[in-house]
Parts: sequence; C-alpha cells; structure tokens
Amino acid sequence: MNLILLGAPGAGKGTQAQAISAKLGIPQISTGNMLREAVKNGTEMGLKAKAAMDSGDLVSDEIVIGILRDRIAEPDAANGYILDGFPRTVAQAEALDKMGVVIDRVLEIYVPDEKICARMSGRRVCESCGASYHVEFNPTLKDGICDECGGKTVQRADDAPETVLSRLQVYQEKTAPLKDYYQKTGKLLTVEGQDQVAETTKLVFASLGIED
Ligand code: AMP
Repeated sequence: MNLILLGAPGAGKGTQAQAISAKLGIPQISTGNMLREAVKNGTEMGLKAKAAMDSGDLVSDEIVIGILRDRIAEPDAANGYILDGFPRTVAQAEALDKMGVVIDRVLEIYVPDEKICARMSGRRVCESCGASYHVEFNPTLKDGICDECGGKTVQRADDAPETVLSRLQVYQEKTAPLKDYYQKTGKLLTVEGQDQVAETTKLVFASLGIED
C-alpha cells in the first residue's frame, strides 16, 4: 500500500503516519525528518535547505524530489510506504506520477487553522529519531525523553508562532491545491483531526479499512 498523508502543518500527519507504519509494517517516509537530519549533519543539501525551513517556506522541488526518489528506492520501501509531508506542491505530485509511483490512497487530516497554532506550541519531536509528541495530547512517558529511542525531545525552531503563520499560508497557497489534484483521481479521503490522538487514529484506520 502506497499512502500519502495530506494536511496542514501540525494536523497530525507524523503521528498518524507512525501509527499506520506500526500497524502495517511499512515505513513512514517524512521529507521533513530527512531534511532536519541533513541540517543537523551539516550536509550540502542541509545547508541549502536550512534558510527555507527556518523561515517556514518550502525547500525547492528539485532537492525534495531528489531525496524522495532515493528514499523510495531503498529495500524497506519495496512493499509500500506512507508519505508524510510529500508531495507539497503540484510539481512534486507530478514528479511522483512520472516516477511511475502508484498511489493507493491519499488521506487528508483536516484541522481548522484556529486549532493549529495551539497544537504547534505543544508539539515536541525527538532529536534522534524524529518521533512526534504533544505535551498535552500525546505526552512522552518520561518528561523530555522519547518513548521510542530514549532520545531528547525538543521544540522545533519552525514551530515558533511567527513561523507557524507563514507555514499555514504556504500550505494554503502551494499544498492545498493537491486536494483537487487527488480528488480527480478518486483516491482522496478526509478525516477530521481530533484532540485525542487515539480518536484520530480510529478514524484514520476506519477510512483506510484497517482493522483496529
Ligand atoms: P515537516 O516536518 O513536514 O513540517 O517539514 C518541515 C519543513 O521542511 C517544511 O516547512 C519545509 O521547509 C521542508 N519540507 C518538508 N517536506 C517538504 C516538501 N515535500 N517540499 C518542500 N519542503 C519541504
């Protein structure tokens, strides 16, 4: 199963991708996590991506399409994957089509803009493995420590309120048109993101026909 998760930043794509990945045994492929890793390691690509990421803008299609193409060619992606944060532009969606990737389902997690800012201020991510948490809605068992790998959880620099607003604007301008793109293929499903992660997961599994 090749899945795409669509939704505004902070809608819960990463968290739901983790739940689907654990259930179906297919990898979560997050371009955001890969880019943050590249920035952390100071690679050439990381240096190119950093300014756009810090300002809440999108990294160039060329860079992102390149890393995605390499990632889906890895052996663990052979039986399917969950794309989390890709595609984010129509050009990226067209690039996937050109690569011959067949997408089974596109799942939009819808959360109204008013709720997004509160969600982002409580979001924490693991510095080591990229797992997502929320201080209120999805806390770690031990404060500041990732449940998955024991790494340190931190707030993302681009979750600062000023940057969140520009990320939402970028989403509306560049990414929201993908809903139409995939609606036309008949593959688009939408669930409304709930405050409780487990409630959203139930809706996500039900809409994908996955047994809970
Ligand atoms: P995310 O973790 O998905 O919220 O991504 C964090 C940041 O990485 C975004 O705000 C963009 O700057 C960049 N990014 C991630 N995925 C993409 C993509 N598919 N296209 C362009 N930029 C991306």
